[in-house]
Amino acid sequence: MGATAIVTRFAPSPTGHLHLGHAHSALFAWRRAREAGGRFLLRIEDIDPLRCRPEFTEAILEDLAWLGLDWDGEVRVQSAHLPEYRRALDALAARGLLYPCFCTRADIAREIAAAASAPHGPDGPLYPGTCRRLSAAERAVRLAAGEAHALRLDMAAALALLPAPLSFAEGGTRIACDPAQFGDAVLARKDVPASYHLCVTHDDALQGITLVTRGADLRPATHLHRLLQHLMGWPEPAYAHHPLITDATGRRLAKRDRAATLRDLRAAGRSPAEVRALAGWPD
Ligand code: GLU
Repeated sequence: MGATAIVTRFAPSPTGHLHLGHAHSALFAWRRAREAGGRFLLRIEDIDPLRCRPEFTEAILEDLAWLGLDWDGEVRVQSAHLPEYRRALDALAARGLLYPCFCTRADIAREIAAAASAPHGPDGPLYPGTCRRLSAAERAVRLAAGEAHALRLDMAAALALLPAPLSFAEGGTRIACDPAQFGDAVLARKDVPASYHLCVTHDDALQGITLVTRGADLRPATHLHRLLQHLMGWPEPAYAHHPLITDATGRRLAKRDRAATLRDLRAAGRSPAEVRALAGWPD
């Protein structure tokens, strides 16, 4: 394997059992690596303690092995690495790129309702910037009082650091990035010490992922991830966002749908090869 060998990963969140959509995504990443003699890594994205459960992690490993996938090296479990994400947040904060946001969801909803316009981004309505405008003194008082807060990226400050517009590589072309569509994105939540956007880019860099594969529903997130990579000096992977598989009626097999899980299919007597075919990858 050469130094430039492809490294892909599958990075599920253990919020439930895997279904055919996950199987499609996992096999996509696994095949891209294996066909090129590269490496395929498995990462468990379990930083949200309210939504993730250890028993789902166990089930994910078992289901993937049953499906016929093998992965290289140790499984990285994000919840075991919280200090690493903290360090990345501290580095951004030290450069004045983060600010504490004390707003509740209700505060934000009220501000947005009162605003003349309410632009939306991929993660919902854009934050109106209330806490960005706090004075340093007010911020200090509220922090000293231990008031719960999220950490937001100061998007304008981050964009001002770019020497040239960013883009990302996908399918042999470059796609212009528009990270501003996220506004002041949350990089650490009040109840979760780091956000998906921060952890996923941190880990893709740390683990040497050269090709990030995931569903097309996450393509917008890549615009923000490229910005975080630039700010942190992390290497730039290539991207392959695959179409989401649909059932016979054209309905998306999303995690939140009551799509058949791999466990259900296995219990119903389907073989791994049959399930691979149902997931869009006939042998
Ligand atoms: N953990 C994310 C999810 O399960 C996917 C992360 C990624 O592939 O970028 O939706």
